Amino acid sequence: MESNAIERVGLGYDIHRLVPGRKLILGGVPIEYELGLAGHSDADVVLHAIIDALLGAAGLPDIGEQFPDTDPAYKGIDSRKLLSKSANLISDKGLRVINLDVVVIAEKPKLSRYKLAMRQSIAKCMELSSEAINVKAKTNEGLDACGRGEAIACHVVAGLAPMKK
Ligand code: MG
Repeated sequence: MESNAIERVGLGYDIHRLVPGRKLILGGVPIEYELGLAGHSDADVVLHAIIDALLGAAGLPDIGEQFPDTDPAYKGIDSRKLLSKSANLISDKGLRVINLDVVVIAEKPKLSRYKLAMRQSIAKCMELSSEAINVKAKTNEGLDACGRGEAIACHVVAGLAPMKK
């Protein structure tokens, strides 16, 4: 029997500024809002935090080293491509994802109606069951940059186990 016992845990965090004239994409899902996140790629703060949680759990160099924002190849890139590549790096290390727990911090817009779509989008990209992924959305109670609606942040914990032999 394959064990699902988690052997490695990774923590990922990211934050991006909200600006006019950009699309808002979270977890690979387009979100209706008048502002979007600033960044070199599509600035998907959720996928970036997931990537760093995975890389961290696998003991690999972080997202900034894997996909430098000075590299024109990554300009405007769909972060789902970066997540797929990261998932491959994890399997190359003989590891598989047991679960991801995601916390998105956004004062606005309300994200509750997008949570299921985000789980499904992340799952599809990583070839996982959406049951392996939990997405929680919180406001920042009006405090700090996220609370003032100037940024969206994301925290992720990833649990990995060795791949089936
Ligand atoms: Mg980022």
